[in-house]
Amino acid sequence: MFWEKKIQEIRNQFPILKEKIYSHPLVYMDNAATTQKPVQVINASQYYYSRLNSNIHRATHFLSQKATYHVEQVRKKIKKFIHAKHNSEVIFTKGTTESINLVANSMNFFINKGDEIIISCSEHHSNFVPWQILCQRKEATLKIIPIQKNGLIELKTFDLLISKKTKIVSIPHISNVLGIINPIKYIIDKSHEYGAIVLIDGAQVPSNLCINMEYLNVDFYVFSAHKMYGPTGVGILYGRKKILNQMIPYQFGGEMVEKVSLQKTTYSEIPFKFEAGTPNVEGIIVWSQAIDFIESIGILNIKSYIEKLTSYAIMKLKSIKKLILYGNIDDFSQKSSIISFNIENLHCFDIGVILDRLGIAVRTGHLCAQPLMNFLKVSGMIRVSFAIYNTFQEVDYLYKCLIKAKKILNH
Ligand SMILES: *Cc1c(COP(=O)(O)O)cnc(C)c1O
Repeated sequence: MFWEKKIQEIRNQFPILKEKIYSHPLVYMDNAATTQKPVQVINASQYYYSRLNSNIHRATHFLSQKATYHVEQVRKKIKKFIHAKHNSEVIFTKGTTESINLVANSMNFFINKGDEIIISCSEHHSNFVPWQILCQRKEATLKIIPIQKNGLIELKTFDLLISKKTKIVSIPHISNVLGIINPIKYIIDKSHEYGAIVLIDGAQVPSNLCINMEYLNVDFYVFSAHKMYGPTGVGILYGRKKILNQMIPYQFGGEMVEKVSLQKTTYSEIPFKFEAGTPNVEGIIVWSQAIDFIESIGILNIKSYIEKLTSYAIMKLKSIKKLILYGNIDDFSQKSSIISFNIENLHCFDIGVILDRLGIAVRTGHLCAQPLMNFLKVSGMIRVSFAIYNTFQEVDYLYKCLIKAKKILNH
């Protein structure tokens, strides 16, 4: 089979997949937390520190200019990757969390008493807490869109919540718990009708879907490199130029200033205005290789393979007695590679520990989404999430180990 051979070739590019865990081959199914890195990313990191390391934008010397050039090339590459209009709309941060905090803090001037911010109940904490704090500071109100039983967002309630009072709407493109792909285009357009600014948390997206700023017409879009086969500690904030120009930075220091005197400081142009201090130069430059890796396979090919794998896994899991699936929808065009579940009367940690002993890495617990856990009335879940290197055999092994875990736990 074409894919079988292809996936084997891809797996060979990931050294960590040869690791043994308690003498079992590693079966890595925690990709929604972070993906593993292909050898071209690992090599680029070594190359950077061996041949290129220096600070950027600051010096006239050769290495600094070369590093600066590479960083700006990556900015261009990401602009292309997400179909943005201007390079200056791509701001480097340390990841999704920092990007959202940057917006929430810089929006300070824009939010007043009595204003409203809308999020959903399936937020990752990093798209929940910054807005909650902002509302507390400003005596604004945080409104929450509920979800239906199957995990789909309640658009009817959103239609009722949105009003002229709404200043910001911030929701995930893909929920990191339910794996549901939200109807963000509808939400973006509707929010704009009311003059609200929209931020989309795209942390789970770049390894699953194409990202198109031109089509989405969104104000802010954020994601991290480490969930798309890239390094940790780097991510982006995409922002619409017009809004970025009006925003006041929330970090101050080197690089983000134009003129500093005893009386007054003026800021640089975007994107530099928001990039105070030395950025993760290595991370940014290495990230480029992760994008090349994704593009060499093709995001549509990745999507189609992972979709097949996910639907196979869901079919297998459904055949396990007393297994409860969350975000269980039949339409796979609305589902990413994330599957969360519980087994009735068993604790997710107990299952997680047994799977770990058998070499399978999954995530257990509240999955950084306590409001959603409360909404669904559970204390935690087991989450498996796939990447391009996962195989059908691994899914079979997961199934076998879950049956075994049930037996061990006397279920
Ligand atoms: C992982 C994740 C985040 C946080 O990303 P960091 O890289 O840890 O900053 C935010 N939102 C969603 C949906 C995520 O999956």
